[in-house]
Amino acid sequence: MVIAGAGLAGSLLSLFLARRGYDVVVYEGRPDLRTTPIDAGRSINLALSARGLHALDQVGLTDEILRLVIPMRGRMIHDLDGTQTLQPYSHRPGEHINAISRADLNKKLLDAAEATGRVTVHFNHRCTAFDLDTRRLHVQDTRTGVTTATTVPRVIGCDGAGSAIRQALTASPGFSFTPEMLDYGYKELTIPPGEGGGWRLEKHALHIWPRHRFMLIALPNLDGSFTCTLFLRLEGPESFAGLAAPADVRAFFERHFPDAVPLMPDLTGEFFENPTGTLGTVRCRPWHHEDAVLILGDAAHAIVPFFGQGMNCAFEDCATLDGCLERFGPDWRRVFETFYRLRKPNADAIA
Ligand SMILES: Cc1cc2nc3c(=O)[nH]c(=O)nc-3n(C[C@H](O)[C@H](O)[C@H](O)COP(=O)(O)OP(=O)(O)OC[C@H]3O[C@@H](n4cnc5c(N)ncnc54)[C@H](O)[C@@H]3O)c2cc1C
Repeated sequence: MVIAGAGLAGSLLSLFLARRGYDVVVYEGRPDLRTTPIDAGRSINLALSARGLHALDQVGLTDEILRLVIPMRGRMIHDLDGTQTLQPYSHRPGEHINAISRADLNKKLLDAAEATGRVTVHFNHRCTAFDLDTRRLHVQDTRTGVTTATTVPRVIGCDGAGSAIRQALTASPGFSFTPEMLDYGYKELTIPPGEGGGWRLEKHALHIWPRHRFMLIALPNLDGSFTCTLFLRLEGPESFAGLAAPADVRAFFERHFPDAVPLMPDLTGEFFENPTGTLGTVRCRPWHHEDAVLILGDAAHAIVPFFGQGMNCAFEDCATLDGCLERFGPDWRRVFETFYRLRKPNADAIA
């Protein structure tokens, strides 16, 4: 089996497949995040919910992963006057979402996949093209620039919102792809730990500063810090484009998030150092071609982060594909068709 992408979906899927006895080769465009200090991808931390945990449970990782999380029992709403109000996610004990570091989670999944002895991950190897007829997969070594092509029985694209494997599906009759970019972007900022360690806001909450046309959120990290994300229009009167100088940023934050400013000592430094990310939704169909190619996770259905469900849906994809394999494997065509039929309505519902 060949998988493109060793992010969250690709590494979990490789583990599912290995547990079913498949030997799996994974090509990952980035270096190994366990040995190279790189950022792990789009957001520093994520909310892991019941549907994601359910998939992790099926590969026996729940206990290990739960050691890496901080339960968030509700939303802590920050009003302009500094009032904080906790809105619990549930009144039943144990019903909450969990903050987790994307890098820690990805590392744990990679370790578990490789520990099966059936998964080989080629880091610094980017899939550049897949030919549906010849099944030739083109892979570029990003360190040397050399591209090689090999014939593979099939490839599963877990290569994220900008998927190269999805691009291969455009040669499939009737394939349709409708990306929809938001005119909003996001930027990550930090609330460092308090003096002597410890969290400077309530640790067991997802903090939100809702301000109608934009918002700031903060999720706790295990080291006592919070990762904040500012969601704001890219252009226009209140926008990233309008925050061109440190004084603009400081004035904007003091006006709209006054209680957060004293907690962010490097606000303006980080604001200009950290990239502004873009946000969008990927809708496409079908997600497979015969038994040659399948896409899942963000490659098939990237969604905006406001629901906190993109990774959770990607994990659910992996568990559903595993269920299809149990029923129909190794009839891959039927596996892919059934998977698509089961998952597409769910993806459409959330996107
Ligand atoms: C700001 C923000 C906050 C978010 N918060 C949450 C949250 O709280 N909860 C939640 O559930 N979801 C959240 N999401 C969504 C979540 O990040 C994604 O849904 C999730 O990462 C999808 O996993 P994936 O493996 O499909 O894709 P990715 O995580 O994008 O992984 C794709 C992998 O493929 C590799 N790759 C890309 N192209 C190639 C190629 N051509 N060849 C080989 N490798 C390739 C990449 O390097 C990467 O490792 C958030 C997203 C954003 C932007």
